[in-house]
Amino acid sequence: MLRFAPSPTGDMHIGNLRVAIFNYIISKQRDEELIVRIEDTDKERNIAGKDQEILDILTLFNIEYSQVVYQSQNIRFHSAMALQLVHDKKAFSCFCSSEWLEKKKEKAKEQKIAYRYDDACRNLPDELVIDNNNPFTIRITKPDDIITIIDYIKSEVSFEPKDVDSFIILRQDKTPTYNFACAVDDMLSDISLVIRGEDHMSNAPKQDHIRNLLKYGKKIDYAHLPIILNDSGKKMSKRDDASSVKWLLEEGYLPSAISNYLILIGNRPPKEIFDMSEAIKWFDLDKISKSPARFDINMLKHINKEHLKNLEPKELSRYVGFADAEIGKLAHVYLEEAGTTKELRNKIEPIFAKKKIPEEFLESSKIIIQTIKEAPYFEEYADFKKYIMEKSGLKGKNFFKPLRYLLTGSENGPNIAEIYKYLKNYLGEIIK
Ligand code: GLU
Repeated sequence: MLRFAPSPTGDMHIGNLRVAIFNYIISKQRDEELIVRIEDTDKERNIAGKDQEILDILTLFNIEYSQVVYQSQNIRFHSAMALQLVHDKKAFSCFCSSEWLEKKKEKAKEQKIAYRYDDACRNLPDELVIDNNNPFTIRITKPDDIITIIDYIKSEVSFEPKDVDSFIILRQDKTPTYNFACAVDDMLSDISLVIRGEDHMSNAPKQDHIRNLLKYGKKIDYAHLPIILNDSGKKMSKRDDASSVKWLLEEGYLPSAISNYLILIGNRPPKEIFDMSEAIKWFDLDKISKSPARFDINMLKHINKEHLKNLEPKELSRYVGFADAEIGKLAHVYLEEAGTTKELRNKIEPIFAKKKIPEEFLESSKIIIQTIKEAPYFEEYADFKKYIMEKSGLKGKNFFKPLRYLLTGSENGPNIAEIYKYLKNYLGEIIK
């Protein structure tokens, strides 16, 4: 079983979508189920509606999953497992106040050493624990030995016991911390491989340690994906518009192209343009680069253009507000100068909109409009042009410039001869 475990705390980040895509591909390759676990235990950071938004994005990207689990529904299991650890003396009550811990952290900072919990409460006598009315957290006891994580991308990474530390598993309000809930849930769901962002690498030994102390026998494999960098070589953050999947979709990037791009970066695929079903055939986690991938919007645009070119004309026309193969073919021509559906709409809409003709061509435009309105239907542009030229008595730039404005709403663009074949049946709507 694989899992995608998003937190409903904001717009979906492209890094998260990449994680979802990789999980989906591997689940298909291995013929294992993929579940979605909404990690909603951090109530302060949750944003209402973000869970549904994430699920909608997965549907849009054709990422199939077998069920959705809300982590908050597993709280009773988290409590039961914590109780078992306390009972086995593998976890203990910690009465250190936040202020006290904060002071110790400050001190460690002053001394320029990494803060570690000093295990002050680890060996409190039982009677002191029972008699204590102060709020307390539950901490797990730190491991005795080095913990080694085997990772598809990072190979072997070892962690010292002090780096795992005796960390908190239940907060004072007895809600589970992220690492505890995550480790228990992965165990309950019988997860075989965890694919996620490398910002979680340091959590892996903690989660392994929790399961070891719970005597869970199965070893979970990991693949921690390198971060995605922006133009300036920094981690793509909320400040980068392109980090939001929602933004990319609104800008007119197709889900298939975004997936293609996210599978391509930091990878060695056999070809540049592909769809998910092809990727399932050759995708190999071992080929993912250890170093961060760099996000390049121009490359994404290039890929998007190729995906748009591959659409059936009628489907392409839908992206510009029509359901007509001829308009799809027209849009295809405009793909020479547009790379997103938004850019394409900005080219096609003016063709059908009321045109603003520049002053200098007002007079000649009026004549051309009248002539076109009275003209018969012409199959070929050459015949149409010849007729309108003759009847209007206009020629040169006094003919061609206003004609282009009238037909396309723009001063420049593709060859009129090339687009006339798709416009000829709409002249009544275009020339108003
Ligand atoms: N909820 C975590 C996140 O959105 C992912 C945790 C995990 O995959 O283990 O970053």
